Amino acid sequence: MAAHTGGGYVDLEALANTLRMDLPSNPFAVATSPELSKIEAALDGAPVLTGEIQFLPPISRPGKLVCMARNYLLHAEETGSSLPVEPIYFSKASTTLIGHQQPIIIPPGIGRVDPEAELAVVIGKRAKGVSRGTALEHVAGYACFNDVTARDVQSRDTGGKHPWFRSKSYDTFGPLGPYLVTASELADPHCLSIRLTVNGEVRQESNTAMMAFDIPAIIAAASLVMTLEPGDVIATGTPEGIAPIHPGDVVCVEVQGLGCLTNPVLRQG
Ligand code: MG
Repeated sequence: MAAHTGGGYVDLEALANTLRMDLPSNPFAVATSPELSKIEAALDGAPVLTGEIQFLPPISRPGKLVCMARNYLLHAEETGSSLPVEPIYFSKASTTLIGHQQPIIIPPGIGRVDPEAELAVVIGKRAKGVSRGTALEHVAGYACFNDVTARDVQSRDTGGKHPWFRSKSYDTFGPLGPYLVTASELADPHCLSIRLTVNGEVRQESNTAMMAFDIPAIIAAASLVMTLEPGDVIATGTPEGIAPIHPGDVVCVEVQGLGCLTNPVLRQG
């Protein structure tokens, strides 16, 4: 596990050894650790890693990967819908998750595949029946997310009144990263530019201020239904501008302050 600093990446295990402290095993646990400020203070001047860095998703196997449908007006409209009157939640298999620079692999015969730029929220503290006013206290941090969707499969399933879980859950259809930005580092998650580019061309460009249901509303409503646990990931929906990707493309999701999540697209086999 490493931490991103202004100067590069610092090996957190080595840093914890020099501090003679036990390092929590997960980024979300580090983000909510009472020792976080001690770790942050020690990052200044710590030696940075040299050589190639391999990125994994900052949360590799969340207990739940909860996603929002139609949470930006202009995206709802481009799908021929309107904004929902209450948050719509769906799920994606946690085995979809891949890290920065890992390839999105498109299986043969599934038709159109679309990327969706989203802000992901990582839960740090158990939440059940929480109020909007205290919801953000349960957040460990934030990351860029790409809710890759097999659009033709989704249309077929929803047209037949079936769940659209399958269309969201192909392996590699969940890039997350490049890293987790702790909640303490992000003053306000509701004023961030969000953008998706394919081969450098801008496809989606919006701002998290445009969400229909903001993050406290999403967490509060979800936590009435299900217990949100540390490490759970919530994808907060995508803005307008969805369009297909193809093998050979390079997709970037960039959320202001959260880095640029880049993934090449390959054909399976
Ligand atoms: Mg989505």
